[in-house]
Parts: sequence; structure tokens; C-alpha cells
Amino acid sequence: MILEERVNKPGGITFVETIIERPDGGSYTISKIKEIEAEKRTQYTVGDDIAVFIYFTHSNASTDTPTSVTLGTAYYNTSIVIYQQTLTDVSSSQNTDLYILEETTLQHEFGHLFGLVNIQGDDIHSNHEDNDHLKHCVVQDCLMYFESNTRSYFRNRSSVPNFDSLCIEDLQAKGGK
Ligand SMILES: [Zn+2]
Ligand SMILES: [Zn+2]
Repeated sequence: MILEERVNKPGGITFVETIIERPDGGSYTISKIKEIEAEKRTQYTVGDDIAVFIYFTHSNASTDTPTSVTLGTAYYNTSIVIYQQTLTDVSSSQNTDLYILEETTLQHEFGHLFGLVNIQGDDIHSNHEDNDHLKHCVVQDCLMYFESNTRSYFRNRSSVPNFDSLCIEDLQAKGGK
């Protein structure tokens, strides 16, 4: 699992699952997502115990268009939204395994929370940041390649991509493993 593999947390990682009532409304803006988080989030970072909030919403992103959809977004420094309805739609419309979509999206967004690519301007390999798609990696096979958050990327994909060696070295330099 990516967290155990890459995060330096010898004390272990705990998952707390909460099911919330489905909020009203259709597509969500990120500010609506933040409102829901403010109301529903139960775990916060205390000292060395880092808490991450992951919201699997029934909805899709308000910025979606007929040609471009958002599968997930990392925001603040410990928050992720996964647009579960969008993942389900993409999965059924182009016959991609839902598990591959979910895992890739979640791991990619965690990559952003880990500071990839060059989010704080502190990457040791700053030259692999994609100048046309900032905060993403130029290496096409890498989990942090910008297209790994797009629908077309998943056509004919049968496995979850990994971080490439540059992203791993950057992560290790930031305290990961
Ligand atoms: Zn991204
Ligand atoms: Zn990379």
C-alpha cells in the first residue's frame, strides 16, 4: 500500500471511516467541498500524528465539461476529494476497472499532499516538473504525470502507475521513504 510504502510512520496508520448523509445539490465547487469538510471532518493533525481528510463524494466537480472531468483534487495541505460519481461514470463508459481508477486517483492526490511535484519549490530534481502542467512530472510512466488525472489516460490501462525514480528521490529528500 502506497502509504505504508512511502510514508515514514513507524507508529502505524489508522483509517477512520464515517458515512455522512448525502448533501443537497449536484456538482460541487471546491468551496462547497470545504464547507462540508468543516462540518464533517472528525480527525485533525495533533503533533506528529498527521490526519488526512478524504471525501468520497457522490457528486462531480462543478468545473467538469463534456470533454474534461476532474477525478479528484488535493487541497489545503491534508485534504483530498474523490469524485466517486465521476469515477463510476468513466469506468462504465470506457470499460476501465473502477479499482484502477480509484487507486490511481487517490495515490496521485496523495502525491500532491506529499509535496510532489516541487509544490514547495524544494524538489531536489526540480527539472522534472512539467512546465506546461505545473506540480506534475514530465515522466509519462510516473504516477505524477498530469494525464493520470484525465479520462483518456485510463483507456486500456490495466495497472496503477508508480512514482518514477525522480519523484521517489524527491519524496525521500522531503522525509518520505
Ligand atoms: Zn495532479
Ligand atoms: Zn515523477
